[in-house]
Amino acid sequence: MSRLVMKFGGTSVADIDHIRNVARHVKREVDAGHEIAVVVSAMAGTTNRLIEWCGEAAALHDAREYDAIVASGEQVSAGLLAIVLQDLGVVARSWQGWQLPILTSNAHGAARILDINGAEIVRRFKERKEVAVITGFQGIHKETGRITTLGRGGSDTSAVAVAGAIMADRCDIYTDVDGVYTSDPRVVPKARRLEKIAFEEMLEFASLGAKVLQVRSVELGMVHKVRIFVRSSFDKPEDIDPYANQPPGTLICGEEDIVEQHVVTGIAFSKDEAQISIRQVADKPGVAAAIFVPLAESSINVDMIVQNVSADGKTTDLTFTVPSADYQRAMEAIGKAKAAIGYQRLDGATDVAKISVIGIGMRSHAGVAAEAFRALASRNINIRAITTSEIKFSVLIDAAYTELAVRTLHSLYGLDKA
Ligand code: ADP
Ligand code: ASP
Ligand code: MG
Repeated sequence: MSRLVMKFGGTSVADIDHIRNVARHVKREVDAGHEIAVVVSAMAGTTNRLIEWCGEAAALHDAREYDAIVASGEQVSAGLLAIVLQDLGVVARSWQGWQLPILTSNAHGAARILDINGAEIVRRFKERKEVAVITGFQGIHKETGRITTLGRGGSDTSAVAVAGAIMADRCDIYTDVDGVYTSDPRVVPKARRLEKIAFEEMLEFASLGAKVLQVRSVELGMVHKVRIFVRSSFDKPEDIDPYANQPPGTLICGEEDIVEQHVVTGIAFSKDEAQISIRQVADKPGVAAAIFVPLAESSINVDMIVQNVSADGKTTDLTFTVPSADYQRAMEAIGKAKAAIGYQRLDGATDVAKISVIGIGMRSHAGVAAEAFRALASRNINIRAITTSEIKFSVLIDAAYTELAVRTLHSLYGLDKA
């Protein structure tokens, strides 16, 4: 007997038929004798619609009320799944974040999980063989008693945190793809499914745009050593033998568990970037601080930074990227600080994309990035900025070339399936 967490995303619970399919997956594991906690997202499209309503109600709105509204999607899907499970003869009860409780920080809209009390659901596993159906994405801030949410894609994080709290043997993330691929299979038809991927690489994948797992869920899994397995919810529950060793999917595991290591593991991309260039700023000490301190004070994360060598020794150009959601605020902050910074012109672009090449093998291989620059040049793709770290590098390009660049690099590093 194992204890498992099964997480189902929005497309997997999109309507009652899909929820019935999910319930059959759950029943399969229950019938195999496992103790099961299920974590569900809101039905596909629901969270987007709730967010739109908040914006329509008032462009600037109270973050506590935003959370009260957007958390409701998961309440519905958890209740529906519990009903369908009961209809199949499975003992099940739904739980909202505040009921367990799942305690979080007070950062409404982007709260962090602090603690989960799994005692009651574990007691019910033992005493009633009851399945716990838990709302993903939401929790409660203890001191204020207000409902909080964890940021987009946060149900993954709920699932991994629940798995840690109840000491589950595995956390299965059921989604609309059957694992983690070498790149987004919707964009790269030749992408291959990875049998295993190291936590460090998955962290980069998630933070550089692959939305299959929320970044925070990977961090939590790494810290609490949760075995995370990404798999498809669209497989027919009846076709899966719960006693079989390994159904199709991707295991997120420690680096030491990966036998066959490639230099490049995969390519991620993100179009949620914006570029800001400050032209002809004085080339003297203190200017970078004059630019980046106001951005930090506005809680804007700066990612890539490129400073040109100044030709005349007096002025230089400085380019950096920010999340596109923060673009307007960043432009305003730099505009306000114009006198303190001292520059001639401010340029910006939102039609840019960041393409990232990821692989632990890069630690011990030189020249990996150079090959990419040559391949992109041969396709006439201009690189606007570059960043590198130990196990990845990223290039900023025109968004129009995203697909071409991703596919070019995917072939370049031998990732295409045969
Ligand atoms: P869910 O609703 O189940 O949480 P998401 O839409 O959040 O699902 O994440 C799954 C999606 O992630 C897939 O449909 C796929 O398009 C996208 N994706 C991006 N990069 C990858 C990748 N490298 N491997 C697998 N899926 C990826
Ligand atoms: N429903 C939430 C969202 O759409 C959480 C999730 O799906 O993980 O972001
Ligand atoms: Mg998701």
